[in-house]
Amino acid sequence: MINKEELWQAVLAQIQLSTSRANFATWFHNTKILSEDNGEILISVPNSFSKEWLSNKYHTSILKIIRSLDKNIRAINYIVDLEKPQKTEKNKHHQKEIEPKINQLCLDAFEINQKTNLNPHYTFDNFIIGSFNETAHAAAWAVSENPGFDYNPLFIYGGVGLGKTHLLEATGNRILENFSKKKIVYTPAEGFTSKIVSAIKEHKIEELKNELRNIDVLIMDDIQFLAGKEKTQEEFFHIFNSLREANKQIILSSDRPPKAIPALEERLRSRFEGGMIMDIGLPDFETRMAILKTKCEEKNIELQSSVLEYVVSNVQKNIRELEGALNRLLIFNKINNKSPDIEITKKLLHSLVHFPARSTNFKKIIQMVAQFYDLKKDDLLVKTRRKEIVKPRQIAMYLLRSELKESYPSIGRKFGGKDHTTAIYACEKISKKIENDSDLINDINLIKQRIYSGTI
Ligand code: ADP
Ligand code: MG
Repeated sequence: MINKEELWQAVLAQIQLSTSRANFATWFHNTKILSEDNGEILISVPNSFSKEWLSNKYHTSILKIIRSLDKNIRAINYIVDLEKPQKTEKNKHHQKEIEPKINQLCLDAFEINQKTNLNPHYTFDNFIIGSFNETAHAAAWAVSENPGFDYNPLFIYGGVGLGKTHLLEATGNRILENFSKKKIVYTPAEGFTSKIVSAIKEHKIEELKNELRNIDVLIMDDIQFLAGKEKTQEEFFHIFNSLREANKQIILSSDRPPKAIPALEERLRSRFEGGMIMDIGLPDFETRMAILKTKCEEKNIELQSSVLEYVVSNVQKNIRELEGALNRLLIFNKINNKSPDIEITKKLLHSLVHFPARSTNFKKIIQMVAQFYDLKKDDLLVKTRRKEIVKPRQIAMYLLRSELKESYPSIGRKFGGKDHTTAIYACEKISKKIENDSDLINDINLIKQRIYSGTI
């Protein structure tokens, strides 16, 4: 029978698949199952903020996962654990002993290097090379040998879940190994933007810029998020130039090449294009098989060849999904002490294969925006000047554009407009506001979470 530590590890492993690294680390750090009594589970959380977040935003997912593992569980409650874990040597030791052995599953999100913000789990050693990523890998490796000179900036692009973050972080980690004195910073572009925004607000922008100019290696992930953020782009441009001039290495990633990033200042675009641009493509069947087999070895699980074949043939979208599929099989293996056969595999992967994660549609977006602002769905779709509706309506249009890439005319029609100018106006207005309205950013992130939750 699975014990409570293992049960919680299994929940975390699943939640991690559908949550960003930052959110996962924020909301699930220091959480655990405190007790299980009569079908009721008590989860301890470190503060009331986490408690609120877990019980409001993640409750359904947690309950669903726990019930899929243990049908006897009926309810889950959350409690704030006020006792801070004591960091005495003895305690640390004890903690290690009781830590379940399956933490390889994926909890390294908690072990992020405080100085560099790098995740030590991502290395070149566990980065598998195939024809889809070998040139990107070679360039990143070269940079890690001789940062600041050959390829600067190094710009890696490719679709989601294909290894951009892994490659960027592996490069950072290796530079750290090769040149321990170098100051390396890894930051997602979104985090960089909010830093800039708050520094401007608090009149500390010069301080921040000086700090950034002292970096030897700046790694910025997902820079497509700089699109439309004019102020951030301007500050970044200056930092970029001073780093570049001083032969400091800059490594960037994006989901598309520089010329395809909308609302990116021309001068930044040409700076990016002045470096080395590499893409990561899609792995083919053989490469996916090699990746899956290597990951099985890493995780110490043996799967029948029919199972391997089923996974590789059906989970094609990206490597993250491939890992997600493997995680489900690992959890089964852990709980039942045997590898799943092909029939069980089909059941375990059913939702992944038939309802791919992170998909959404018009109905869901409208429903979640309406729910968030406590409105009726129809309120959003009908033209109105009512103040409490104007903003949610614009946000809904913005999300249709950003999440579904709908055309402006199509958005216009759905919202009762005859032409597409209303849609353009709404999307631009929200994009602009997001730049310095942290409440709005927060709202939109929460709505997005709802839109994409429930896919586990
Ligand atoms: P991206 O940043 O492109 O969205 P990630 O770097 O987050 O993708 O990769 C998604 C998952 O797949 C990560 O867990 C990563 O470790 C794994 N992964 C991606 N590429 C490789 C690879 N070439 N070898 C091994 N694991 C990989
Ligand atoms: Mg990434």
